[in-house]
Amino acid sequence: MRKLSIRDLNLAGKRVFIRADFNVPLENGQVFDDTRIRATLPTLRLAIERGGRLVVASHLGRPKGKPESKFSLRPVAVRLKELLGRPVIFSSDCVGQEALSRSQVLKDGDLLLLENLRFHAEEEKNDEEFSRQLASLCDSIFVNDAFGAAHRAHASVVGITRFVKEAAAGLLMEQELSYLGKALTNPERPFLAILGGAKVSDKIEVIENLMKIANTMLIGGAMAYTFFRAKKFTTGKSLVEEDKTDLALSLLGEAVERSFRIVLPVDHVLARSPDDSQTQVASVEATPADWMGLDIGPKTIELFCKEIAAAKTIVWNGPLGMFEKPAFANGTLAIARAVADATSAGATSIVGGGDSVAAVERSGVAQKISHISTGGGASLEFLAGEKLPGVEALTTYEA
Ligand code: AMP
Repeated sequence: MRKLSIRDLNLAGKRVFIRADFNVPLENGQVFDDTRIRATLPTLRLAIERGGRLVVASHLGRPKGKPESKFSLRPVAVRLKELLGRPVIFSSDCVGQEALSRSQVLKDGDLLLLENLRFHAEEEKNDEEFSRQLASLCDSIFVNDAFGAAHRAHASVVGITRFVKEAAAGLLMEQELSYLGKALTNPERPFLAILGGAKVSDKIEVIENLMKIANTMLIGGAMAYTFFRAKKFTTGKSLVEEDKTDLALSLLGEAVERSFRIVLPVDHVLARSPDDSQTQVASVEATPADWMGLDIGPKTIELFCKEIAAAKTIVWNGPLGMFEKPAFANGTLAIARAVADATSAGATSIVGGGDSVAAVERSGVAQKISHISTGGGASLEFLAGEKLPGVEALTTYEA
């Protein structure tokens, strides 16, 4: 059983509602990074080729349920037009008379972009009437290509599917589900997970689920210090979640029971503060009182790179240090290169989460990664073994 795909649909002459994820960063009224727009172009092009009449919608930022010009999708319309090389019609509201009449005069292959869905509080409330209004803009065909929003039960993701005949996955959605799905159900082994970032508490479920599926996990970033505190190391001023040390200890115990290897850093780069240019490398077991760990050290890089080179499936989420600061970016960038090299040597690599994606881009190796996930939160929930409401709501394919 699989979910209906846009490839299964007959779109000629029909209005199709496409939920995209155009939640892109803007700067001075322009799209600053168009990665997410580019990621959904194959779906839009396919719908255009098939003679569909496209009604495209997205959220952008967190406008709190009312219009705010700084969260307008107008800059996205401009960029989309350049990328597609064809006109983009814009509606200044995602529901109501303007949207409806603009959708009704679309011709085959035309594209109408709706204003930010989150200008209406009903979107995040999964409101029934709002969902019905969105559905009235199409001819009972819905395509969800917004993997990044699939973990949200919102009107344009879940509610709308109750008012259409066919709810299908777009090509990006399919690609995301296929890479992440294969890693969780049928991974080539050894299966290595790399987790970093600020908090253990954000990733507990991911650690617990991957412990049942993967072979090894490398843990870096600030997360590691909660484990170090649990092991009674001194951690100085490093970021520690004091109330999660018991949990860290029980995760380490559970890993031993399951013969699952959790590999923690052995050395790290320290500074008195993130802005201090004076740094030192030391073992992780004893951090001086007024110093903090901000990156993994050279021995850890070597250790982690060896694990990466031996892996056949690699899933990476979260930076291994405070990589926004050049003095503490070394570890994360080295890991990005190692993951790319392992991929060139035959491994499948999946990188998710804004910071890790930025790291592979900054290292210039993004092209070598098998799959870069566009959805940080959604990919974490998927890796935690949770069902994504936006995927559950899609029509099941019956041949
Ligand atoms: P997350 O959103 O949980 O993936 O965390 C990402 C953030 O963690 C980034 O802004 C990093 O700067 C930060 N981070 C990673 N390692 C450290 C560290 N050792 N100390 C402080 N912050 C860190």
